[in-house]
Amino acid sequence: MPEKTTYLIKITGLVQGVGFRPFIYVLAEEFNLTGWVENRNDGVLIKINADEKKALHFIEEIKKQAPLASSIKEIKLQKTDYEKFTDFSIKKSESSSNAVTEVSPDIAVCDACLEDMKSQEHRINYPFTNCTNCGPRFTIIKDLPYDREKTTMAEFEMCDTCKKEYTDIYDRRFHAQPVACNNCGPHYTLYYKCNFYKNINDITDVISYLTEEGKIIAIKGLGGFHLMCDAHNEDAVTDLRKLKNRESKAFAVMCKNSETAKKYAEVSSTEETELNSWQRPIVLLKSTKKLAPSVTNGLANVGIMLPYIPMHYLMFEKLKTDVLVLTSGNLTDEPIITSNEDALKTFEDKADAIITYNRKIHNRTDDSVGIVVNDRFRLLRRSRGFAPSPIITNFNTEGIFAAGSEFVNCFAVGKGNQVLMSQHIGDLKNLETFEFYKESYELYKRLFRFKPKRIVADMHPDYLSSKFAEDLHRKFPETELIKVQHHHAHIVSCMAEHGLNEKVIGIAFDGVGLGDDGNIWGGEFFINNLSEYKQFSHFEYINVAGGDAVSKEPWRSAVSYLYHYFGEMIFEDLPSFTGKIDANRLKNYLQMLKNNFNTYKISSAGRLFDAVSSLLGLVQTAGYHAEAPMRLESIINDDITDFYDFEVTDVISFKKTFAGIINDLRNSVDAAIISTKFHNTLAEVVLQLSKMIKQKTGINKVVLSGGTFQNKYLLSRVENRLSENGFSVFSHEKIPSNDGGIALGQLIIGSEL
Ligand code: ZN
Ligand code: ZN
Ligand code: FE
Repeated sequence: MPEKTTYLIKITGLVQGVGFRPFIYVLAEEFNLTGWVENRNDGVLIKINADEKKALHFIEEIKKQAPLASSIKEIKLQKTDYEKFTDFSIKKSESSSNAVTEVSPDIAVCDACLEDMKSQEHRINYPFTNCTNCGPRFTIIKDLPYDREKTTMAEFEMCDTCKKEYTDIYDRRFHAQPVACNNCGPHYTLYYKCNFYKNINDITDVISYLTEEGKIIAIKGLGGFHLMCDAHNEDAVTDLRKLKNRESKAFAVMCKNSETAKKYAEVSSTEETELNSWQRPIVLLKSTKKLAPSVTNGLANVGIMLPYIPMHYLMFEKLKTDVLVLTSGNLTDEPIITSNEDALKTFEDKADAIITYNRKIHNRTDDSVGIVVNDRFRLLRRSRGFAPSPIITNFNTEGIFAAGSEFVNCFAVGKGNQVLMSQHIGDLKNLETFEFYKESYELYKRLFRFKPKRIVADMHPDYLSSKFAEDLHRKFPETELIKVQHHHAHIVSCMAEHGLNEKVIGIAFDGVGLGDDGNIWGGEFFINNLSEYKQFSHFEYINVAGGDAVSKEPWRSAVSYLYHYFGEMIFEDLPSFTGKIDANRLKNYLQMLKNNFNTYKISSAGRLFDAVSSLLGLVQTAGYHAEAPMRLESIINDDITDFYDFEVTDVISFKKTFAGIINDLRNSVDAAIISTKFHNTLAEVVLQLSKMIKQKTGINKVVLSGGTFQNKYLLSRVENRLSENGFSVFSHEKIPSNDGGIALGQLIIGSEL
């Protein structure tokens, strides 16, 4: 007898574009249910005829068996008016606004597909095997709704076998848009010397041979090209650095599996889970030093990722090495290359072999990067596997465009209560990167049917993102243009991530952000809510000279701090430091400070770290962004709990801190100890200031943001010291704490004004 009760089930979370409706359909069939399933903007709606017990059981199984890439936030069950259904069906979502959330990020190849590559006749070793649970998504999408014709798979016509799978609701490839096999799908080509290879077994043989020979291969990945070589071969890694225009940043590596990763790094169980997650990010792990030295170039952490496309697995089956350097295929500072033509042109004379495939990458994505701090995963670069999944907020953000920052740019567009953060774009000062920014804005506009009503930008007038925002506003005069303060946006990003809408203690530490008084801020203590902020205190201003050279040459910050606190005499008796700087440059720089020539005031945490790193002789001229703070963190010895003195008046003075460091230097104290004491000092500064603000205002919630909090040791210690003292602490997880997360804050401030 059919049940006379109808239940409405509402599932919220990331449940669109991940094969959720067919999954529900098949499950409903198994349960013998009648009713329907439908996609809505904010989730999935299901109606079924069932008794309560069966409905609850159904929900339990939904939770248990949900597709890998889905993430259920909540399932609500409610009784509703009885409706009669004769079967179970998938309701087609018609509204284009519903399609908005259907853009899934790319998903690492699933175990079942890897199995199919061994057993399905038409997919033996087929390197583009995918199904509803895995495969390319965002990188191949040109427009919505998400159908094969609107992806770069359009030019490949499905063979009969694939078509059968595609149209069979009980098949794992039902409506898997990129479905393909050896007979009908894309294929790889390897160019080596004057030969080219198209057979996948030949290609992996050649890869294995060349890698063993210490050669460098450019290979097309999911979101762009990679450059790769054996991570054990120092000569090959050094060659790779030359190829990329002498880049000095650490390279990421790909390990065969997580067991292999443990050979090269300390891997906690949380870190292992992240490594193996379907997003397959690069996870920064504590290196145990068995790789070629040039891979990490002296840093304590190594970025490790695991294979995520079939080709990676096929390669490792043949390779003699179990770890490859796999770095973005670009020349330093340029965006990662995505087209075959560009790759062939750029790498022709540089790489030993080039591997392409004949499906286009429509949307560039970099490998995402994250780190586990206090057992929670924090994204530092949000791209492949994460973009363009929306960040769900409690605010109406419809029609708001946030332009982002300058150096690590991501922009954001608002659709209802969802914020769509762009994938990591990069440094806009690079011409190609700025082009990428503009293209991506057009893409998001089209993909998400976005029409700007309000435009939010950083108040720094020279940021190219701010200029872009102004141009956009000029083009569409009906839009509003709002400029927001950099550090307020940082803190609000973190608040939005945690759904906070109240007054908080907002602490932003970073490199550069324009302050209200025209100075460069970056060591800021705010009392703020989403729309307003008051500066409670900040790091004492010091004078620096030389424009952009200041962040590139950490010794300038060191000299500035010492001169500011101790005067010129200090340099006569500090040979361990002055011996590392060119005497003439030191003299000239001091002259500039004295005459206030080309100087400006900063309260930046980034420059403070620069100064200490330089004082300890670690980095005088940075080879890449934030090298000095990274090297300072790298020598930490976490057994040490001491810290230096500091003073809080109306500002925070580090005079006593530097006096302590100089004293330690004169007593030949180990740099590791000085570095750790310095980090600990900042944690105490945060604690003391938080206590002062709490005493004055009663606020107990502390929100941490800004690039400096990418420092694992600092973030961990700050969080722990605050929680030990009864504070509720909020820090970034889903979006980066660096400028790559700032667009979210800009957008939320924009929605509140
Ligand atoms: Zn699969
Ligand atoms: Zn086929
Ligand atoms: Fe910043």
